Amino acid sequence: MLAAVYNGVNQLDLLEHSIRQLKGGEVLIKVSYCGVCGTDHHIISGKAPAKIPVILGHEFSGVIVDKADNVNEIQIGDKVAVDPNIFCGKCKYCRKAMVHFCENHHALGVTLDGGFAEYAVVPSSQIYSLPNEFDLSLAAFAEPLSCCLRGIKQADIKPGDTVAIIGGGAIGLMMIQLVKLSGAAKVILVEPIESRKKIGLKLGADIAFSPDDKNLV
Ligand SMILES: [Zn+2]
Ligand SMILES: [Zn+2]
Repeated sequence: MLAAVYNGVNQLDLLEHSIRQLKGGEVLIKVSYCGVCGTDHHIISGKAPAKIPVILGHEFSGVIVDKADNVNEIQIGDKVAVDPNIFCGKCKYCRKAMVHFCENHHALGVTLDGGFAEYAVVPSSQIYSLPNEFDLSLAAFAEPLSCCLRGIKQADIKPGDTVAIIGGGAIGLMMIQLVKLSGAAKVILVEPIESRKKIGLKLGADIAFSPDDKNLV
């Protein structure tokens, strides 16, 4: 298969890569879609750590094409979304339900091979089966959307609030929609790129302006 392999700072190589044998509890996914995250940029530019070499990509969806004998809850042909964050469940933080501080945390596409490839081997515990009619291009948003949902919870938006969103990238554009669903009366997007401002307005922002705009009042 073809895979985009991170081989060190500023080195992302598109290579022919073998598909490794499945171990117990694992499934093989034919990757349909994989998002490009800010984290991928940070890894490639050396600002965030990752294993070397590793297949990057942690926001992916696809179809199950093979599974280990002991995987019963998932069937070949299932459409799936992937949770890339793997927690040990045993350390003191996991036992306090603070898995984001897990001392033995692994992530597909960071410390384990991920979704910038035609196929990905994934533990079945990280898989969410989807209805057959589900659009797999949307399923690739499961991980970034869950980050946004956490942010929305923290922001504690009340009906009628005015909310400013700084940055209209993928996360900012999802936030506009979630902020609206949370009952915000007015949503202001601050974003310098014209095309993103337009999408932001289409998705529910009431006003969009660039940080360079001088005549706002
Ligand atoms: Zn991400
Ligand atoms: Zn842990």
